[in-house]
Amino acid sequence: MANEQLQEAVNALKNTKVRMTPQRHAILEYLYETMNHPTADDIYKALESKFPNMSVATVYNNLRVFKNVGIVKELTYGDSSSRFDCVTTDHYHVICSDCGKMVDFHYPGLDEVETLAEHVTGFQVHDHRMEIYGVCEDCKNISH
Ligand SMILES: [Zn+2]
Ligand SMILES: [Zn+2]
Repeated sequence: MANEQLQEAVNALKNTKVRMTPQRHAILEYLYETMNHPTADDIYKALESKFPNMSVATVYNNLRVFKNVGIVKELTYGDSSSRFDCVTTDHYHVICSDCGKMVDFHYPGLDEVETLAEHVTGFQVHDHRMEIYGVCEDCKNISH
């Protein structure tokens, strides 16, 4: 399944003017294999032995390219701690407050909240983000 989605992303990239390089392929592969919403730094650390000449900035630039093409989503947390998600359809996240693990959580979009927010504030609402915090199963087991 992950492989199929990776192939789809590769094809989507082929349809743009963006060139596929071994580095870009490795970054995409990492995103789809781990599904762990990594930061650019996480990806850099995982791939630095394979690509000794690659910098964190290069990883980040490639992620921005993927984002512009629409095959990854950036979840910003200020500064350089953006996390990248290869699932671009709408979904929510459950985040472990101990280890930072982020897991996809599928739940019908809370459209009525957007409508209400629009109504109450007069904003033109275009998006929302909901994050659920807790302690993951691994961390729960350590503490017991
Ligand atoms: Zn955890
Ligand atoms: Zn996600």
